[in-house]
Amino acid sequence: MDVSRAVRDPGQSYPFEAAAEIEPMIVLDDPVRFTNVRLKGHLVGTGGGVRLSASVEADVQSRCALCLEPVEEHLAAEIDALFAREPDPDDPDQYRLEGYQIETDDVAREALLLELPMRFLCSADCKGLCPVCGANRNKVPCTCQEGGERQNPFSALSKLLTEDEEV
Ligand SMILES: [Zn+2]
Ligand SMILES: [Zn+2]
Repeated sequence: MDVSRAVRDPGQSYPFEAAAEIEPMIVLDDPVRFTNVRLKGHLVGTGGGVRLSASVEADVQSRCALCLEPVEEHLAAEIDALFAREPDPDDPDQYRLEGYQIETDDVAREALLLELPMRFLCSADCKGLCPVCGANRNKVPCTCQEGGERQNPFSALSKLLTEDEEV
């Protein structure tokens, strides 16, 4: 994004809207994709640098932590970043200003990552996968819990684990 006007005219506020691209990533073993990443805010020249204050929104696609089905959520975050010729390496909100261009992808990614939920769930009452037969309990009624007598190497194990937890 070109910021030459803001850099040359410190103190003036320049509204802007921009799109950003964020590479798909793995977060705690789960694939996370961001689409429709949009920034909206304003730029103010600081004399030698530019301060960017904006809100960023995106759709984020991942999978349910319990049943592994695809999940999409809308995320929003606030950005307050300083682009400087010589950014302070100890300040995570400072970025490098190269010429009169700034890169909005990094600021958008950093802000959105902080807003990611601890885990994605398809719904608050997701029943998850059956630990015995692997069925998605939201879709398939499975009788492993009630039956219990089917010979399965995992059922004995899960019994042991349950007894352990109760101690
Ligand atoms: Zn689920
Ligand atoms: Zn089952």
